[in-house]
Amino acid sequence: MGDHPDFDHMSITTTETLADDIFYILSPTGAIDLTPLVVIRPCPTCHQREVAYADKLDKNKGVSLKTFDRGHVLYEPSLVDEIRTIAHPHGNASDAI
Ligand SMILES: [Zn+2]
Repeated sequence: MGDHPDFDHMSITTTETLADDIFYILSPTGAIDLTPLVVIRPCPTCHQREVAYADKLDKNKGVSLKTFDRGHVLYEPSLVDEIRTIAHPHGNASDAI
């Protein structure tokens, strides 16, 4: 994540299978994948890998992600279905997250 990482990196030993490009939080019962709410993506603005959170849905571009550190905005069309399922589990879809 460049010279100014958004979060501290840490090493852990676990029997779970974890991916390099997934953002996890550690809970007492193990690592929790925060996708699609928090993701790590290459930022088209600063060209760094940044940690971003789902901010809103754009009808044409997909999920609008805003980076924690710099506030850059990027879009991820592949996360739309997952976000809609979390935001509206009973099918009451809307563009607001
Ligand atoms: Zn950026």
